[in-house]
Amino acid sequence: MCNNPDSVNVSVNCLGGIDVKIDECLVPLIEALQSLPTEMRTMESCCGHGDLHGIIQLADGRCLVIVDGWEEALTMRGRGKR
Ligand SMILES: [Zn+2]
Repeated sequence: MCNNPDSVNVSVNCLGGIDVKIDECLVPLIEALQSLPTEMRTMESCCGHGDLHGIIQLADGRCLVIVDGWEEALTMRGRGKR
């Protein structure tokens, strides 16, 4: 998703009206998640800065992993290509 190791953080209005710092490339996704029911809102995130998969932790404890595409996701999940 992000090949910029120098991503900057920006402020986004999150739960309770608190401004938090998140990676700039994740802003649209984080803002969308913040508009969903409380259990889907975000607690922590990191885009991976070109070295790692991006991750977003949700309020209910689940974690979203961001990869570059469907095929990479299937491979990561261990089911291979369809
Ligand atoms: Zn990034």
